[in-house]
Amino acid sequence: MRYQSVQVFGFTFLMAFCIGLVSAPSLYGQESKNQKFSQEDKFRQLEEILPTPNRERAASGAPGSDYWQQKVDYEIDIRLNDETQELFGKEVITYTNNSKDRLSYLWLQLDANIHRSNSDANLTTTTDNIAGLGFGSLKTMLAKEVFDGGFHITRCEDASTKKKLKHTIVKTMMRVDLPQLLEPGQTFQFQVDWNYEINNSRILRGRSGCEFFEEDGNYIYEVAQWFPRLCAYTDATGWQHKQFLGRGEFTLEMGDYVVRITAPNDHVVASTGILLNPEQVLTELQMERLEQAKSTKQPLFIITPEEAKKNESSKPDGTKTWIFKADQVRDFAFASSRKFIWDAMQHNVGDYPVMAMSFYPNEGEPLWSKYSTHAIIHTLEVYSRYTFDYPYPVAISVNGPVGGMEYPMICFNGPRPEKDGTYSASTKYGLISVIIHEVGHNYFPMIVNTDERQWTWMDEGLNTFLQYLSEQEWEEGYPSRRGEPRDIVGYMRSPNQVPIMTNSESILQFGPNGYSKPATALNVLRETVLGRELFDYAFKEYAKRWKFKRPMPADFFRTMEDASGIDLDWFWRGWFYSNDHVDLAITEVRQLNINTKNPVLEKKIRRAKRDGIPESNSEALNKDLVKRADRYPELKDFYNSYDSLDVTPEERRSYDSFMKSLTDEERKLIGMKRNFYLITIENVGGLVMPVIIDAEFEDGTKQHVRIPAEIWRKDNLKVTKLLMTKKPIKSLVLDPRLETADVELENNYFPRRIMKSRFDVYKSSRWGSGGNPMKTDLNRKKSGKKPAKVGQVSEETKKSAAGTGGGKKSDEKKPVVKKPATKKPATKKPVAKKGKGNE
Ligand SMILES: [Zn+2]
Repeated sequence: MRYQSVQVFGFTFLMAFCIGLVSAPSLYGQESKNQKFSQEDKFRQLEEILPTPNRERAASGAPGSDYWQQKVDYEIDIRLNDETQELFGKEVITYTNNSKDRLSYLWLQLDANIHRSNSDANLTTTTDNIAGLGFGSLKTMLAKEVFDGGFHITRCEDASTKKKLKHTIVKTMMRVDLPQLLEPGQTFQFQVDWNYEINNSRILRGRSGCEFFEEDGNYIYEVAQWFPRLCAYTDATGWQHKQFLGRGEFTLEMGDYVVRITAPNDHVVASTGILLNPEQVLTELQMERLEQAKSTKQPLFIITPEEAKKNESSKPDGTKTWIFKADQVRDFAFASSRKFIWDAMQHNVGDYPVMAMSFYPNEGEPLWSKYSTHAIIHTLEVYSRYTFDYPYPVAISVNGPVGGMEYPMICFNGPRPEKDGTYSASTKYGLISVIIHEVGHNYFPMIVNTDERQWTWMDEGLNTFLQYLSEQEWEEGYPSRRGEPRDIVGYMRSPNQVPIMTNSESILQFGPNGYSKPATALNVLRETVLGRELFDYAFKEYAKRWKFKRPMPADFFRTMEDASGIDLDWFWRGWFYSNDHVDLAITEVRQLNINTKNPVLEKKIRRAKRDGIPESNSEALNKDLVKRADRYPELKDFYNSYDSLDVTPEERRSYDSFMKSLTDEERKLIGMKRNFYLITIENVGGLVMPVIIDAEFEDGTKQHVRIPAEIWRKDNLKVTKLLMTKKPIKSLVLDPRLETADVELENNYFPRRIMKSRFDVYKSSRWGSGGNPMKTDLNRKKSGKKPAKVGQVSEETKKSAAGTGGGKKSDEKKPVVKKPATKKPATKKPVAKKGKGNE
């Protein structure tokens, strides 16, 4: 630090000053007794909160030497009934117990049971008030009353002995009792048969479902969370069988799948995995085009829009069975319809050739053929660079009823243009963003297999962070919704918050908490705390360490520190374990210069200071009074002309002998031209952050100062920092490039700025908000118009209400939260649609 050079002074007169520089509070004597110190240590280490490292999970954040996870393989036959929207399935599950524990039962999850009218999700939904209810919501409520949702389990038996297995359904979970203990290393095979009715996703929303098209009478099926799936059994949680309430998605075991999907023979099926029998389900032409797509420079139609349109009026005369195989996946999903256009383009990620494919109805055009497959490939390119090479053979985006949801190798994305083919900017960017997001989920949580039922941020936060990076590489000025620190300010200062480290089902403000805040935190960690090089190395290390494995929060926190070499406990504590927000303020700046001891110089400075004291009011008014000493000059003596700021010969001599006592170097130092500034910064928001200052000098040049967050380690409420400069400072700004999500910008300026804003002048209505009904009625009789209903607001009143902003605070003061009334052109910064959030 630069002020250390000052400490070479060894004289008494400077000593106090030097101490003052190092420890600012003692500059003017004793430390203030009532100085406030925060009781909470923001740098307290996290070890006492994080789980104790063990042989499964190392203290470095890497998988331990004895790390294990279960393996579950599935062979499934499924039949889709397009007449009744039902699924009939039969699965043979092979469960391999890699744990060191003996298991007496297995738990499976039955997610479709959430649609039952007596499900916990339905029963525990709360409603504060109904001001109005859309027809859609009303239809949903009525449909829930009668929908026969949920699994019907028709068989559960030991695959080798064919004996029935006792099974108990507990809401959205099912326990299967094993015939004997499953020892470590042993495998158990059993069969489950089931069926269930597929929800109409437009009425009963979910992460899967079907959509009916009235115009042509066809369906699109997006089928997911559709078979009884083994719960995860882990070293960290045992069985993860926390009931499904809707928010906390799921976590599953890695395994290999063979799935035979039987659908109407004019359907096209898109699915997790590679198609094993193309010659049985595709036409010659489709197979030829798929071959061409391996070397094409742009997405190629396998089924053209015209062909798809034609298929809409076809009638099936039987079924076809599509066979898919997928290895090392945690789940399996598919889509089926006769309406699909299909395009494809191969893209090589490292050593892996990946077929990127999109399936969508004509209703998705012209947006989908233009953007979907490009967005898939873009995601693979960017995400693979920050993590690991995408390891699967296909990556698919499907348009159907689901707004946005991810599964291994396949995802469902909702946005479509208007019927006439036009679309808003928010639809366009909403589509690109949701595809990036859902394809991106392949990395987190499909491959880095986190526990979504427990921790939303571990997949959504990390994924949204990479989504932001990918969007910014799509085009200049891409309107990302999440990731920029300035965009999280409104949430950070809002009430009703819980820390990021909150179970998925208990999160308040789900989107900001689970997606935006962790994504922004990682962006801040990358750009402001660690820097890109350290962050990217550590983040990639985390991804590589936990690829196809199951990390917990501590593994992420520990790996980021372990690989970057920076203690980040304060960062996790502030951003992930607390509701604090960032609000730093410059509250005081003092300028100091070295006392030269030269009486000529120093007394001149003191005189200038004295002369600068303004005349008091009485002094000014008394000026014209005739003074007695003027009337009787004999009353004046030595003191009437003496000025204590005149330099005396004694002072000159004393100075000369002092200078003689100094070495040459000391004389140089004392005459040094430097400005010392004591800058006091207060932590108003509570969240400690690096202190970033732009100092502007009087000559207009600037100096950028970056101080690590550790400046707050001894006092997290108030710190004073010495800045030594050659040139005098004119003004200071904290966080000039808005990189810390500081919620209050005005206290970042020193000196403060005049806040400028605008307001409207309007004519007030003479009749108040209700108008004058009698007058209106009279006018109606004159003109023959119908009367306005009682209580109806007049157009003028409406306008004025919109114009004044009802006492809204200046938008320039808080630029981040409320946008000015004048909207930017929609093409520049559209906001993606909020109605259907992606998952
Ligand atoms: Zn998501």
